[in-house]
Amino acid sequence: MSLKSFIEVNPESDFPIQNLPYSVFSTKSIPTPRIGTRIGDFVVDLAVLDEENLFDKQYGFFADSTLNRFMSGGRGVWREVREQLTGLLSNDNSPLKKETLKSRRLIPIEEVLMQLPVTIGDYTDFYASREHATNVGIMFRGKENALMSNWLHLPVGYHGRASSVVISGADIRRPRGQVAPMGPPPEFVPSRSLDFELEMGFFIGVGNELGKPISIENAHEHIFGMVLLNDWSARDIQAWEYQPLGPFLAKNFATSISPWVVTMDALEPFRVHGPKQDPAPLPYLALDAAHGYDIHLEVTLQSPTMDSPQTISRSNMKYMYWSIVQQLTHHTVTGCNMRTGDLCGTGTISGPTADSYGSMLELTWRGEKPIALPNGETRKFLQDGDTVTMKGYCQGEGFRVGFGEVTGKILPALLIN
Ligand code: MN
Repeated sequence: MSLKSFIEVNPESDFPIQNLPYSVFSTKSIPTPRIGTRIGDFVVDLAVLDEENLFDKQYGFFADSTLNRFMSGGRGVWREVREQLTGLLSNDNSPLKKETLKSRRLIPIEEVLMQLPVTIGDYTDFYASREHATNVGIMFRGKENALMSNWLHLPVGYHGRASSVVISGADIRRPRGQVAPMGPPPEFVPSRSLDFELEMGFFIGVGNELGKPISIENAHEHIFGMVLLNDWSARDIQAWEYQPLGPFLAKNFATSISPWVVTMDALEPFRVHGPKQDPAPLPYLALDAAHGYDIHLEVTLQSPTMDSPQTISRSNMKYMYWSIVQQLTHHTVTGCNMRTGDLCGTGTISGPTADSYGSMLELTWRGEKPIALPNGETRKFLQDGDTVTMKGYCQGEGFRVGFGEVTGKILPALLIN
């Protein structure tokens, strides 16, 4: 008999008792942000549970306005809390406790306002899908030089901007910048090739000391959980600025994440072997284990005149060449210190087929093959008023462990005086 909650949860819900993700929320009646978990269409207020001694001991940090203190506790604390929550929300809990929980601690999802769940110190974005790197390489450098000579030896990445990471639902302002599609001199205009990137993000729970790299064997212990991540990108700005130091303003104006952080313990049953790595990675990046994840991913687009969103891509995290533990290990191999709350993006997760690409750049092949929308409109890149939504879930037997969604709408560029 599989684990069941006394709360009714639709089998297609992302949030059954097998998930129990964490986030920060507030309500109209209690505007102070605090930590909650989610079951079906309800948020469970963990600050109240803690205060009223429904846990074996008092933790204190659930009344915080970010997950950081909880995250810094390490895997022992994460497991302990998860086990207790599973017991409390399980159908096997005592009738009295079920009634107590139902009466005051469950808040309908419509009544909550989700907050950015983590204070993010640093944000790094990788480039770890072979299909994505190959597609972009073909478009920018031609078939012969698609993958750079380093790509199969290390997870390529760049240090991004934590200050502009926003929660799902936040509007995205079209950036202005220098573009030079025909070469210099550049013009200063609103980006004409605004794009999304379908990614997953992972949060560092426990960091490492400066000078002490995280080994590939221990990397998993440092990761608290994952979210959906949209790395909004201005391709025309990127094409002009990216050499020789990589992306800068093309990606620093906004990165959206889904509000619920799904823990690595909830994702454990969905670990799979990633693509075969040939050539074999150097020993510090080699790990003989299933370190990929089978997470179904989907992107939809809705223009202002469409009644409902249209699916424009279906991908899966299992296609990713460099795993998140390899990314984290590589990041710290110099002794670079990660801190609690740091965020890493996996890089665009493109699949092998043309309908599984994770960006407009690839889906439309740099605008050569526009996407046809059901209302007759077409898109090469995103237009003002367009809404992009990403969803993701793992399929279990009779239940899903999902991420909800990350969504954002494009607003027109502001005038600059
Ligand atoms: Mn990216």
